[in-house]
Amino acid sequence: MSDVRHRTGWVEVITGPMFSGKSEELIRRLRRVEIARQRLQTFKPAIDDRFHATDIVSHNQQRMPGETVASSAEILARVDEATEVVGIDEGQFFDQDLVEVCNILAKQGKRVIVAGLDQDYRGRPFGPMPAMMAAAEYVTKQLAICVICGNPANHTQRLTGSRAQIQVGAQGLYEARCRCCFQAPPDESPSA
Ligand code: ADP
Ligand code: ZN
Repeated sequence: MSDVRHRTGWVEVITGPMFSGKSEELIRRLRRVEIARQRLQTFKPAIDDRFHATDIVSHNQQRMPGETVASSAEILARVDEATEVVGIDEGQFFDQDLVEVCNILAKQGKRVIVAGLDQDYRGRPFGPMPAMMAAAEYVTKQLAICVICGNPANHTQRLTGSRAQIQVGAQGLYEARCRCCFQAPPDESPSA
């Protein structure tokens, strides 16, 4: 048996519906990383242009500078060897390779923090997030407040008729709903 110890990293996932404070929590963790003077890089997918081209921004207007990438492979290409912590927002919009990319970064000794929606507007698992949650050492599932009844909200209700899985936006397009108040699109039920 070898007594060699590896300096390993790990993966943290922050998930839940829209308005549950995922970006807020990501920014909170990353601010502490800055305070500790650890070397940090933050990424988000090119698709999310809601508020700012590169910053990570929460619905209550907290922000943090970030880099925009077109694919998860680009994250791997852009992370410096010296980087100690990698933050990723809107993980649901990335391709499935996000899981492998995060695993590689963690094996290199980096702390990887991924925030993203676990379900889409139909209540179905969203992009690489379910696999991301399985691969992560730590998973924090957050809830919003149901705008109809005030119960804990685990769903993102789309208020428009669009059937595209990705329709970027926030207030007016989506709202947080509990399981009783959530209404799946008429011809589709949430994942069984
Ligand atoms: P997420 O990244 O999960 O979409 P954000 O971190 O961007 O969430 O925003 C969280 C903030 O959204 C809350 O602190 C609050 O100010 C605001 N907010 C708006 N609607 C709701 C709601 N229904 N429940 C909880 N927070 C809400
Ligand atoms: Zn409700």
